[in-house]
Amino acid sequence: MQTLVDGQVYALRRGFFNMYVLVNGDSITLVDTLTSAQTVDSVRQELAQHGLDFARVRQVFITHAHYDHVGGLTALQAALNVRTIAHRREAPIVRGEQTVARPRPQDVDFLSRLILASVNFTITPARVDTEVQEGAKLDEVLPGIEVIELPGHTYGQIGLWWPEKRLLLGGDVMMHLPWGLTMPFRLASPDWAAAKDSVRKVAALDVEVLGLGHGPAIMGGAAAKVRALLK
Ligand SMILES: [Zn+2]
Ligand SMILES: [Zn+2]
Repeated sequence: MQTLVDGQVYALRRGFFNMYVLVNGDSITLVDTLTSAQTVDSVRQELAQHGLDFARVRQVFITHAHYDHVGGLTALQAALNVRTIAHRREAPIVRGEQTVARPRPQDVDFLSRLILASVNFTITPARVDTEVQEGAKLDEVLPGIEVIELPGHTYGQIGLWWPEKRLLLGGDVMMHLPWGLTMPFRLASPDWAAAKDSVRKVAALDVEVLGLGHGPAIMGGAAAKVRALLK
């Protein structure tokens, strides 16, 4: 795992996909779940390597209901009695009551339309126990950490903002690709104006450490990179 905050925040990376492990004394919170049931084994092994017990996983925080973030949720819920936290607008999608929103075909270019038609947005329904929105304090996850709404990539995308460390786990509000920070995939993001507003919102936070759904975490000076993206 990549260490973001020693002893407290780690990134668990599998190829293009990331999830995060937050340690608060005896309680571990996972942020997102990678793509599949194999997440359970990955988490168990990675935690063991850091002397952490899988049985201490108490919560799963879902940034948004795309398959690469909720794909392992059903298996995690089967393996452990984890409390699952999601935004109130994302929860019905996690539960399978609504389908994943995608851009209107007329809002994307021809090639994206072709790709959009072929991408599988289906997810396996899972439980949500706690619905949250902007400003919710999650002291049980880490003292002082709070929910920040980052809509656009999905309508109910949320992140975790920890003011004390100036650390943001931002889901797919942006991506950290080998050539730098980018906007999320246009063809997976139903509200592009809101997606840009969410990046502006992050820029205003003065983030130091930034962990996203895709690419390595930015370990310092993230705010300057976010502002550069906006130019
Ligand atoms: Zn996504
Ligand atoms: Zn993603």
